[in-house]
Amino acid sequence: ATPTSIMVGTGKGAEMGVLFRGGDALQALRGTQVVAMDKTGTLTRGRPELTDLHVAEGVEESQVLSLAAGLEQHSEHPIAEAIVRAARERGLRLESAAEFNAEPGMGASGRVAGKGLLIGADRYLAREGIDTAPLARHAEGLADAGRTPLYLAADGRAIAVLGVADPVKDGAREAVARLREQGLQVVMVTGDNRRTAQAIARELGIEDVVAEVLPDGKVDAVRRLQEGGRRVAFVGDGINDAPALAQADVGIAIGSGTDVAMESADVVLMSDNLGNVPNAIALSRATIRNIK
Ligand code: ADP
Ligand code: MG
Repeated sequence: ATPTSIMVGTGKGAEMGVLFRGGDALQALRGTQVVAMDKTGTLTRGRPELTDLHVAEGVEESQVLSLAAGLEQHSEHPIAEAIVRAARERGLRLESAAEFNAEPGMGASGRVAGKGLLIGADRYLAREGIDTAPLARHAEGLADAGRTPLYLAADGRAIAVLGVADPVKDGAREAVARLREQGLQVVMVTGDNRRTAQAIARELGIEDVVAEVLPDGKVDAVRRLQEGGRRVAFVGDGINDAPALAQADVGIAIGSGTDVAMESADVVLMSDNLGNVPNAIALSRATIRNIK
């Protein structure tokens, strides 16, 4: 009965928008103990908006925004897009950067309007020896509200903190609750600020958070979760996390994701509906039960 049940299970999956790439995927999913989930674009909508701007003394908001956006127009990061959009909405004219350098998982640097700029995470400024203390309370307040704080430095001085918000997806909280009812440990894995990640995890009912991982670090995070032979599924959109999808026992790509996610995944969710993660687990359990 084995091949038939798997065919039936695979067919049922397809009806609800869950593509199992090969019968192995359906079987592998059944043994899953841990579901690790990317945050940005997987648990959250992945389209951040600029919501806050705190400037240091003597600094103008519009200048901050045009410098930041001037630099970020050369970056493809969703955070960069949020900053550029906000500047355009305010009718600011953006000067191109004379130099630009992206630092994955950290931020970006370059030269705009004669100033040496740096924008990104607190750890990035710290690495470059820039003091963030005068603006830190603004950054912490943003992070505790689930927003991502970014520092802007000009010529070695932190001149502003910008806040971006990326709301959680509809149904994400319910999907997490169902996974936990299924007896699974749910872990959020993200490159984002620890406090921000913890605030969002709290909103979603997730207890375990691995934050501030560099893009290469997501694979290590999966490996650590696999220690002791635990079987880990990783859910991601392929932005930064294709290697983690491949490392996991089962890689689950969400449908609005990238081609590379589809290629690295064992299971593809055709829609943004995170409820299909517990649905897929339930289906794998029901299907394999039939085989026995
Ligand atoms: P995630 O895993 O959440 O998708 P990333 O690894 O892409 O995160 O980025 C981690 C952090 O690095 C961001 O939260 C941000 O603080 C910083 N960062 C990366 N790229 C940029 C950028 N272009 N502008 C500002 N900050 C950036
Ligand atoms: Mg993502």
